[in-house]
Amino acid sequence: MSVPHYPLQINGDIVETDETLEVRSPATGELVATVAKGGAAEIDAAVAAAKAADKSGVWRNTPPAERAAIINTVAASLAGRIEELAALQSRENGATIRVTGALHVGLSIANMQSVAAQTLEYEFEKAGPEIGPVPAEGILRREPLGVVGAIVPWNIPLLTIVWKVTPALAAGNTVVLKPDEHAPLLALELMKEFEVAGLPKGVLTVVVGDGHDAGARLSQHPDVRKVGFTGSTEVGKSILGASADNMKRVTLELGGKGPNILLDDADLDVAIDGAIYACMANNGEACEAGTRLLVPSERKDEIVERLVARVATMKIGDPLELATDIGPLITAEQRDRVLAHIAKAQTQGAKVAIGGSAPAGDEFANGYFVEPTILTDVTPEMTVACEEVFGPVLSVLSYETVEEAVAIANDTEYGLSAGVWGTDEARVLDVARQLEAGMVYVNDWHVLHPAYPFGGYKQSGLGREGGPNALDQYTEQKYISVDRSGGVENKAYGLVLG
Ligand code: NAD
Repeated sequence: MSVPHYPLQINGDIVETDETLEVRSPATGELVATVAKGGAAEIDAAVAAAKAADKSGVWRNTPPAERAAIINTVAASLAGRIEELAALQSRENGATIRVTGALHVGLSIANMQSVAAQTLEYEFEKAGPEIGPVPAEGILRREPLGVVGAIVPWNIPLLTIVWKVTPALAAGNTVVLKPDEHAPLLALELMKEFEVAGLPKGVLTVVVGDGHDAGARLSQHPDVRKVGFTGSTEVGKSILGASADNMKRVTLELGGKGPNILLDDADLDVAIDGAIYACMANNGEACEAGTRLLVPSERKDEIVERLVARVATMKIGDPLELATDIGPLITAEQRDRVLAHIAKAQTQGAKVAIGGSAPAGDEFANGYFVEPTILTDVTPEMTVACEEVFGPVLSVLSYETVEEAVAIANDTEYGLSAGVWGTDEARVLDVARQLEAGMVYVNDWHVLHPAYPFGGYKQSGLGREGGPNALDQYTEQKYISVDRSGGVENKAYGLVLG
């Protein structure tokens, strides 16, 4: 059966490259699409087109309201395609259809609409306070940076793209986007939508390619003024290093090891499901997952028993089926990495309460599945409690006092998300305020609202995406002073000219 082919498109021209990438379903191995794969040369061509478009003023001089209108047009068009795009995403990266519909596509649309609304209100230029003693006027401006690079991972492609590309375009920048080679299709669909909506040539280009080749070139390119990156902390550090040469601005959204604290008065009827949702949404392939469940030691047995009973009901399988709770991981390597984490945790003293293996059965034979897994008797120094697993593996750790729980929660190089569950709101909020994380969820998780910023403390990143200041991340500040005195009387010249 023939599948769609996505060529590369640079400056409005179709470009075929020497290498074609096959995008295959991680659930079945089925071929989903083929894509022209680019490298450093294609990145150079795309950046040149983006620079020319920037210099021409075709986009930075387009009134903000028109830029916002194009973003809204694309959002509306995506909204009419939610089911189709969610299915495409599920086929491409194995995330389950309920999640791709609501989180990948639905939330991306909401973010685009939020940024479009912000663009209409954004003060690209405003008068500042009067400057004395010389009667002078101050003007504060927010200007586009120029060419922006965006590099994103495979786990939640559209949302991580939208968090960068939308405010960058809204602010008047031109953009070169490099999606992950395992999941590039939503990026390519988004680019088509922008083209149809009337985005001028060269303003947004998608180059699909490997990280060490296309990604590295984009992050090093001297004509790129900013890189917005989502991915691993390790690669984030190399992006930060590469930015030094031309002082690129960077926004980095990196890994996490989210602590999820159940206080002794937590309502387990909600918190048990919540803890599983926190860890295993998107097949556990989420940077802001709650992967370390911290429970009061006196309630540990009861909590583990209830977690196991609930996980036993979870349906693993075809990500396109509405009933499926857990789909496949992205690649065989990722599955093996997750299974190796489980095995190592056991050698270090953890116990598998449920799951722990690749599921048996013909329906799983061609996919990269791992059973939803609960590990108990995990202690803070174990590898599984320190490193990102990126799979459906929840580690349960015990604590004696709330102070100890907070100390364990914060004892990590990461600081992306955290959660606290309890019925005494003052106490829960007291704990929430002590957690070193960019997002702290109280009695819930994954509450990714467009009005609130997303990003991490410590090695989980630099800067924030979305939220009320989304455009600030993609603009430079400029201050202009305009002298109105007309004479030398009140000026500071006397400091030099006696
Ligand atoms: P990764 O860092 O390997 O890849 C991410 C992107 O960077 C891909 O497009 C890849 O091709 C590119 N890349 C790889 N090497 C590069 C290099 N040397 N130079 C430039 N680009 C390069 O990450 P991954 O394994 O694909 O994704 C999973 C990671 O992403 C996890 O660590 C997860 O926590 C993180 N993540 C973070 C967030 C967040 O917002 N904080 C969201 C989703 C995922």
